[in-house]
Amino acid sequence: MDPIRIAVVGLGKIARDQHLPAIRGNPAFSLAATVSPDDPGPVGVPHLARLEDLLNKGPAVDAVALCTPPQVRYGLAAMALKRGVHVFLEKPPGATLSEVAALRDRAAKVDATLFAAWHSRFAAGVAPARAWLSDRKVERVSVTWREDVRVWHPGQAWIWEPGGLGVFDPGINALSIITHILPRPVFLKTATLSIPENRAAPIAADLQFCDTAGADIHMDLDWRQTGPQSWDIEVETDAGTLKLSSGGAVLTLPTGTEHADDLEYAGLYARFANLIRGGRSDVDIDPLRLVADAFLRGRRETVAAFHD
Ligand code: NAP
Repeated sequence: MDPIRIAVVGLGKIARDQHLPAIRGNPAFSLAATVSPDDPGPVGVPHLARLEDLLNKGPAVDAVALCTPPQVRYGLAAMALKRGVHVFLEKPPGATLSEVAALRDRAAKVDATLFAAWHSRFAAGVAPARAWLSDRKVERVSVTWREDVRVWHPGQAWIWEPGGLGVFDPGINALSIITHILPRPVFLKTATLSIPENRAAPIAADLQFCDTAGADIHMDLDWRQTGPQSWDIEVETDAGTLKLSSGGAVLTLPTGTEHADDLEYAGLYARFANLIRGGRSDVDIDPLRLVADAFLRGRRETVAAFHD
């Protein structure tokens, strides 16, 4: 079977750190081109400044991976789908729920694959955590996602703009895990969003969710964390406590701790290839919907200005 010719669009941090190595490591794909307005592109790979130029002039591609900031993703995805090109959407899949729904409908009409990727769901501990929780009674959940924005997002202006999500840019990864592992649907009860006086997006958020059986789910998101960083989820159940740490890579059950290699992006590209070969899409909007609910229902408080 011929490899899927793919272009990576938006050559920033995640494209270079994860997408290019994952594509090069998967024989189901061949890297046909890269697209980015300012970056010169990797040596030896055809590079264009605009997706439109690639689609008009070639080289020919079967798929694109959109690794841009979310605010520009809809236009790029719609342009690719119009040509019947399969689309991998980095998380979050869009800047609004409606644009993602429009893309899902468009992909179905043109028989192209649309994949809304949630990389944290492919962290090593997540699948076994989901299996372990499937027949447990969940009593309480605590999510702590505290990191230093200056370390992880230096100079990323888009992340502070409307649609950039602020602290929900990492926080949505935690939401993608809990919506995947918890056996019942989750919804928001209250939220407080802390927004720096000079920015449009929150630097911290305190959120209270519950599941449909009434279990309390508390989430603490903060970008002002210096020193040790925390990406932890604790789930208390009738059979003891499950803990996912390091963003889902390390799973601790009452019986012991399991570590495994980080294969998140290898897993995402294996899934994307399967979806394309099977003529299917995978567009789960649940994590983005919970973020939208936080912006819809949350109380805003203004906090000290943030400077990079
Ligand atoms: P980033 O470093 O700012 O990179 C984004 C790149 O998109 C920029 O380098 C820019 O390229 C390019 N771009 C902007 N507009 C474009 C357009 N119209 N067409 C083509 N390229 C365009 O951001 P990032 O950290 O990689 O994050 C990108 C996305 O991946 C975000 O949605 C983020 O949530 C997600 N993500 C990030 C991480 C992470 O650890 N950073 C992890 C997982 C997922 P030029 O430099 O050429 O202008």
